[in-house]
Amino acid sequence: MSDISKDLALFNELVEALINEEEENPVAERIDSDKLYDSIDLSLNESAMIDDAFKTVLRNVLISTPKTATNLFFNQLFGGRQSKAVLGDLLAVMLNNSMYTYKVAGPQVGIEQEIIRQSCDLVGYGSQSNGTFPTGGSMSNYMGLVMARDAKDPNCRLDGMSKAMVIYTSKESHYSNAKNASFAGIGRNNIRYIQADSKGKMITEKLEEQIIDDINKGFIPTYVNATAGTTVLGVFDPIDEIADITEKYKIWLHVDGAYCGSVIFSEKYKHLIKGVERSNSFSYNAHKMLGTPLTCSIILVNDKKQLHDSFSNEADYLYQTDGDDFNLGKTSFQCGRRNDALKFWTLWKSVGTRGLEKIVDQQFELANVALEYIRSNPNYTLYSFDDSISICFNYKNIDPTTLCTALYEHQITVVGFGSFNDDTFIRLVTINANNKKQDILNFFKVLEEFVEKTPNLTKIKEMSI
Ligand SMILES: *Cc1c(COP(=O)(O)O)cnc(C)c1O
Repeated sequence: MSDISKDLALFNELVEALINEEEENPVAERIDSDKLYDSIDLSLNESAMIDDAFKTVLRNVLISTPKTATNLFFNQLFGGRQSKAVLGDLLAVMLNNSMYTYKVAGPQVGIEQEIIRQSCDLVGYGSQSNGTFPTGGSMSNYMGLVMARDAKDPNCRLDGMSKAMVIYTSKESHYSNAKNASFAGIGRNNIRYIQADSKGKMITEKLEEQIIDDINKGFIPTYVNATAGTTVLGVFDPIDEIADITEKYKIWLHVDGAYCGSVIFSEKYKHLIKGVERSNSFSYNAHKMLGTPLTCSIILVNDKKQLHDSFSNEADYLYQTDGDDFNLGKTSFQCGRRNDALKFWTLWKSVGTRGLEKIVDQQFELANVALEYIRSNPNYTLYSFDDSISICFNYKNIDPTTLCTALYEHQITVVGFGSFNDDTFIRLVTINANNKKQDILNFFKVLEEFVEKTPNLTKIKEMSI
């Protein structure tokens, strides 16, 4: 047997053990970070390790790593496991292509382009649209910003920043906007954070007022980042209204759909991003709502020239055959680039576009189960709104930070907390489309049982009036 065949047999054995473990103990036993190095053997040593010991170590590492695919993981904006996507990712690892040239990636180039073409059609972009697979949503936002900057002042690609550019996003947008402003030479202080309304949506009147004020002061409005699914509340900025403003003032509009941009696949929910076809760029993370393994982020650009202008560079040693349309390195940030397309393609190919729609719709259905449960139970306070897969709530006025940490430390369920305005709350994310109604009800059950038998959980401080 070849080495790889042996290791794949070992892989199957280990994965079998992991899946059993996931069923028996959906929340991994937590290792205190200060005891980590004493608990599992993570050391790297001079000498080789014999097979059995090696297997034992691998098994221990697998078992004690947080389990993100189980029905009790609700912590972040991903979770669950789409097995056809896992299959594709395993194949991508075996093939180990780099996506920069047709010479090295062959049909994988076509796979990536097919996803991009179909996604552009769903968004409603025209025939000049294209896109690429960045390393994640943060990078997608960054690429959007760089294109906006270069479109406003092409010269800054050669000479650096010379204009007083300012950019806009809502207070509720993703934190990568701040870092990206710094990376792109705009500067963190030149982001205007536009106020959100009581439901967490950007207030477009405030956006326009700020733009006018900036123009009057000699600044150059360059980029608006609108969010389709804000990180905490999961709400959608009013894209159509924002597009009225960006078109009027000739500002680049990027729609950050990292979290919920996958609603492009849903007849029922795509109205939430109405007007998205008017944006200049749009991104979504298939590793969030669509459940592919991390990372799988797609940025689409209405005019592919912008992508090329900002990201291409001649490199004779690299681009030796085939045209630019097949040499994807001409439109990516990286040089060597992992094949993130194949896992999404295997999923899409196997379930069809209608199957992806079901994955998206299921998450909203699960959210409705949670909403209904909370609304019909007076021990809960709800902080989130309809049409969101982030369900934000508190239970019996217990301090959410204490409760979430206790749930995690006792291996009950993994869930996070967030805040909006003056409120802090538990945020249940119903993003795992493999979950059923019963799994959501079970979440509330284990939470309530835990509270019942855990005395002295801190209460939220009473507001002084
Ligand atoms: C998750 C998220 C991002 C960041 O995506 P990464 O792939 O984690 O870098 C950006 N924007 C929003 C709205 C997100 O929810």
